[in-house]
Amino acid sequence: MTRDSTGERTAGWPTGTMRAAAVASPHTTRLLEMPIPDPAPGEVLVAPLRVGLCGTDLELLHGTATYVRDGRAPYPHVFGHEWVGRVVAVAPGATGAGAADARIAVGDRVVGHTMISCGDCRACHRGRRNECGRLREVGLYGQQGAAAQYLRMPAHALSVVPEDVTDEAAMLVEPAVTVLEGLRRAHCAPGDRALVIGTGTIGLLAVQLTAGLAGSVEVVGVDDSGLATARRMGARRTFRPGEAPAGHYDVVVEASGATSAFHEALRTTAVGGRIAAVGVASEAVDGVDLGDLVLRGITVHGIRHGLDQYDRVLKLFGDGALTADGMIAGVLRLDQADEAFRLLQDSGRTAPKVALDPSAPADGEDGSRSEPRAPARSAA
Ligand SMILES: [Zn+2]
Ligand SMILES: [Zn+2]
Repeated sequence: MTRDSTGERTAGWPTGTMRAAAVASPHTTRLLEMPIPDPAPGEVLVAPLRVGLCGTDLELLHGTATYVRDGRAPYPHVFGHEWVGRVVAVAPGATGAGAADARIAVGDRVVGHTMISCGDCRACHRGRRNECGRLREVGLYGQQGAAAQYLRMPAHALSVVPEDVTDEAAMLVEPAVTVLEGLRRAHCAPGDRALVIGTGTIGLLAVQLTAGLAGSVEVVGVDDSGLATARRMGARRTFRPGEAPAGHYDVVVEASGATSAFHEALRTTAVGGRIAAVGVASEAVDGVDLGDLVLRGITVHGIRHGLDQYDRVLKLFGDGALTADGMIAGVLRLDQADEAFRLLQDSGRTAPKVALDPSAPADGEDGSRSEPRAPARSAA
């Protein structure tokens, strides 16, 4: 039994040290041994089961992420913002403002919200948590990431995962909430001609969600296996860049982040169409013809995050409207972070998402379970 900052006793909260995977300096990862976070009022301790890696983690690794460049994410940086875990201890929330959420109990499987809003700024008071001016983002800045044996989270920033949703699916909830928010903002509805650009994790989730909302979807991509997966997920037609019909689509989801893809989005959008820009372009997009955008009445939505879509996305995975099949290239241990990042950058991988399993013992730590796990190839 340990005590939190108020001196209250917190049953079952482990003490000592834990393993965590961190970016130690640009291009270098390290397995750290660090203290298990102390209890704090209103917060819970989670043992992560799966942590998904994405392009943002690669930018943290390479030192190109905004958070690194502006000093918000100093090294060593424990990454991991797409995750599912199990609650192992709950601190009492007796001090009021941070009162532990009664929905969360020890043993619950949960996904964590990447953006932790302050609850007390103008945007939060207006119910726009997405626009909070004092955000912390798990694994990005202001909050340790989930590539660790334990992670402390405010109870209000967790959603309970239904039994019928697998760990792999739950790990994909974080990228999926942003896509769903994009489709909501772009008013995607039955009968819309819809196009998704990109066949990475965000793109393939967008294919599934858009097919469900619009009734059919078409896809632009550069990767053969990604386009094949998109067709299996219900894409009616797939195209290489430049091949999709110009001025044809009511809703276009830009899910690649490539600067050329934004031009492709503008080229293919119909008069009065809506673009949901979900991919994050890392540089300015030159040559955008604003006059053309105005005269064709096109609306571009920049999609920050889908903070209010977690429960809805969990239900879509539970109902089978969303699936992780064909999405996961491999699951590796915390001490294999280097290998995981290599796989994430391997253009020959068969699926877009690479995961870590922080609950797996490090190699050699436990003789009975020390065999490295082969990447779990998709059955599809
Ligand atoms: Zn991500
Ligand atoms: Zn706020």
